[in-house]
Amino acid sequence: MIITKTPASRISEFDSDNFAFGKTFIDHMLICEYENESWKEAQIMPYGPLPFSPAMMGVNYGQACFEGMKAYKDENDDVFLFRPEKNFARINKSATRLAMPEVPEEVFMEGLKKLVDLDRNWIPNGQGKSLYIRPLIFATEEALKARIADKFMFAIVASPAQSYYTAPVSVLISDHYSRAASGGVGYAKAAGNYAASFYPTKLANERGFEQIIWTDDATHEVFEESGTMNVFVRIGDEIFTPPTSEKILDGVTRDSFIELAKHNNIPVHIEPVRVERVIEAHNEGSLKEVWGVGTAVVTSSFKSLGYKDEILILPEMNEEEKFATMIKNQLVAIQTNKKDDPFGWRCKVEKGYSNI
Ligand SMILES: *Cc1c(COP(=O)(O)O)cnc(C)c1O
Repeated sequence: MIITKTPASRISEFDSDNFAFGKTFIDHMLICEYENESWKEAQIMPYGPLPFSPAMMGVNYGQACFEGMKAYKDENDDVFLFRPEKNFARINKSATRLAMPEVPEEVFMEGLKKLVDLDRNWIPNGQGKSLYIRPLIFATEEALKARIADKFMFAIVASPAQSYYTAPVSVLISDHYSRAASGGVGYAKAAGNYAASFYPTKLANERGFEQIIWTDDATHEVFEESGTMNVFVRIGDEIFTPPTSEKILDGVTRDSFIELAKHNNIPVHIEPVRVERVIEAHNEGSLKEVWGVGTAVVTSSFKSLGYKDEILILPEMNEEEKFATMIKNQLVAIQTNKKDDPFGWRCKVEKGYSNI
């Protein structure tokens, strides 16, 4: 791996209490090019724009996928990744579905740890703070030919992140638009899945809903995901979440929530969640919580669900009573090294790793 350090670090301009998430980038990035059927040597270099043509196949035909993961700092400034092997496995699953080459484990894992170590000073420390890391693969071949590209780039960029408490939001259960279809690319973190969700989300926003609960494309009778998060429902004192499928993204946070719920002896049912069942539970008064989970904000709690012309108002609960909050707190405590990690999920990034 070639490491070229920046001669002009921007860290002195970075205020860890006041920055724009997703727009502030750490000093370095990683890139690795694929050409002639093989990956070249990965390079860590100063963060910045790269020259590409508008005829680049990634932007014309959408061969592009990404990952989202975080690095956390504990009180001693030690740095940890969370289940990075899951993101590694998933980016290659996405790449395969989009007919792109798999990234070698060494390029992904070593590159990730070296980049994070090199820019560890950029990782903010404190409640809700982390470094958001975005690995991605996209077609770079310059050709207006609708076929599999023969040049690709794997890159990792990263942005300091801060998550604040957010009040529960209103969501709309989709009865028309779909995020994913049978035989499609829903299980892949394909860039195009996001593009396709923006317009229906905008329409929902105009009706006063912050997010969409995506339902199955054939009948719109079964929950799939909420926005770009996996969805959980609490009925009585039991949790329900849809099984992963080719239409559902297999979230790391989802899997961690399921494990933690079991660890807390909360019954978790991984089974289809029917809209009708949720409405019935609401009418009986046993629907307690509905929430989404994902790396970026961990949990997003819902206060109401719009369905056709109706609005189901969820009960107001104290934070201490919510399963979503309890499990989130346990998860964050593991991520930030405040609690034992019986699952072996934390992955320490040793100081000086980038010099090895
Ligand atoms: C990324 C993503 C998630 C959440 O996955 P995590 O690994 O938990 O961050 C859920 N649904 C969709 C559609 C996603 O793209």
